[in-house]
Amino acid sequence: MKKELIFLGPPACGKGTQTNKLAQYFGFPHVDTGSLLRAEIASGSENGKIAKQFIDKGQLVPVKLVGDIIKNRLMQEDCQQGFILDGFPRSMEQAEMLEEIRKEIDKDNQVDFRATYFDIDTDVLVLRIVNRRSCSECGEIYNLKFKSPKIEGKCDICGGDLTQRKDDNEETAKARFETYFRETAPLIDYYKNKNVLSSINADGSIEEVWNRLLKVVE
Ligand code: AMP
Repeated sequence: MKKELIFLGPPACGKGTQTNKLAQYFGFPHVDTGSLLRAEIASGSENGKIAKQFIDKGQLVPVKLVGDIIKNRLMQEDCQQGFILDGFPRSMEQAEMLEEIRKEIDKDNQVDFRATYFDIDTDVLVLRIVNRRSCSECGEIYNLKFKSPKIEGKCDICGGDLTQRKDDNEETAKARFETYFRETAPLIDYYKNKNVLSSINADGSIEEVWNRLLKVVE
């Protein structure tokens, strides 16, 4: 049966690392709205220019823009057996939009649709954000405090240069948390009421969280 997995949790809760691993585990695409939007910005497109203004302020990019990107991506051939959706939906309006998209792409087919909430105390997360770096080549995520690379500034896996996201500074990070609590956190109850939500304790090592995650999505 086709698997459609979505994930909720505050910024820097470890979703990106875990959902990347999960996509490899199942052999499904990792559809991550943050990365798709950053790719739009890098391409210099009109949509990228609009998205940048919101991302730099820690706000949500307009729903129509993100919705179109997601819909196009989920309709592609490689998503037909299943997908890992990371970073969407992020508001009630987007959750409703996802329902519409799913009706269109799945018609009446049976689908295993589940939401997983990464439950973690947000106090430590701003520190995680400002120390986060990622490989410009393969996307591997590092943290200067908790998971530093063996050679400074270089990826352990492919040797690519490590870079810092422009929105990973303290001021924008704080705005992203405000946006999360106002817009995204209400989705926890929304999916709980639909009986499709599992919560996992997201405080722990990558391996610990991974084992908890597998138990709820397999
Ligand atoms: P992330 O990489 O998931 O931390 O996302 C980085 C930024 O991209 C967010 O702070 C938003 O500005 C924007 N973004 C990512 N996903 C969405 C979404 N589903 N809706 C609107 N904006 C988004």
